[in-house]
Amino acid sequence: MRRLLAISLLCCLLVIHVHGEERPSYITQYTSGSRDDKRIAITIDDWFEPDLLDEFLDVAAEYDCKLTLYPIGINIFPRDKDNWQRALDEGHELGNHSNTHKNLDEASRSSILAQLNNMEDRLEKTLGYRHEMNTVRYPYGAGRYRGTKSSFAKAIHEAGYEHVALWDVDSTDAREILRKTQNGSIILLHGRKKDLLALKVILPKFQAQGYEMVTISDLLDIKPAPKD
Ligand SMILES: [Zn+2]
Repeated sequence: MRRLLAISLLCCLLVIHVHGEERPSYITQYTSGSRDDKRIAITIDDWFEPDLLDEFLDVAAEYDCKLTLYPIGINIFPRDKDNWQRALDEGHELGNHSNTHKNLDEASRSSILAQLNNMEDRLEKTLGYRHEMNTVRYPYGAGRYRGTKSSFAKAIHEAGYEHVALWDVDSTDAREILRKTQNGSIILLHGRKKDLLALKVILPKFQAQGYEMVTISDLLDIKPAPKD
């Protein structure tokens, strides 16, 4: 009991210390994972061509690649339920890329909350249950220079997100992707035909080079936030 009291007191002092010295960060932003490990994350945004999802998943399965998908809410339709569920069943990850691809950097607090929550609602309507996501990706990457302690970052946190996944490789050209990718890279692609073609070129090459292709949460070692 005495030990418990001592620990509680220590925690209080730590909290006072943190708040007294400087404001806390509301979020953490990442542009890559560790450069020490031969692991990369391939992330696929927007999904204006959601009909292609099953073909993306086929290619990923062939090369033992776990994808991270960042659809915007308005591109998630109940008719594609089986494919979104298949993605989760096969170990891929979903993240929040806003509902309508709005530039969040220019949005009000309430608009930021609505954009992220409405995307969650669209996904829930399609899957038939609430699916918690670990990361946000800002549309256009806009907001990346607002820092982690601003009112902007606070709004992202209030929407339920602590981790923002950006990228360090942004190209649809397979050769350029292969040239720029290194340990820890986060590769940005989009859910459309030409990116599917690039994926078909890069996955066998990455596999042959010995890269492990993991989800963003695996790459960044993000654990799901504890439920309140
Ligand atoms: Zn986007």
